Amino acid sequence: MEVGLIHVCQCQLCKLGVNHSNKSLHQQINLLMSYLDEQQQHWFAALEANRIGHSGARFVSQITGLDEFIIKRAQQELHERLNNLQIEHSEFLS
Ligand SMILES: [Zn+2]
Repeated sequence: MEVGLIHVCQCQLCKLGVNHSNKSLHQQINLLMSYLDEQQQHWFAALEANRIGHSGARFVSQITGLDEFIIKRAQQELHERLNNLQIEHSEFLS
């Protein structure tokens, strides 16, 4: 992604050009994404998708332009890494 260019959200409301409550959030997400490297973009998208919940990956895909499959894979990756951390933590305690 080129510096100074940010992805334009493709969610239905942003595409219509209407002012909606999440418009600036979507712009901020894409602004932040433009500063992240590829791996960080995937994880941030996954985090956002987790926050949204049901159909989160599809929606974040519309916002960011990242592939829905990539976001789902990153969600799985975050989940697994967190589980591994918890295992390490409990081993540390015992
Ligand atoms: Zn949008």
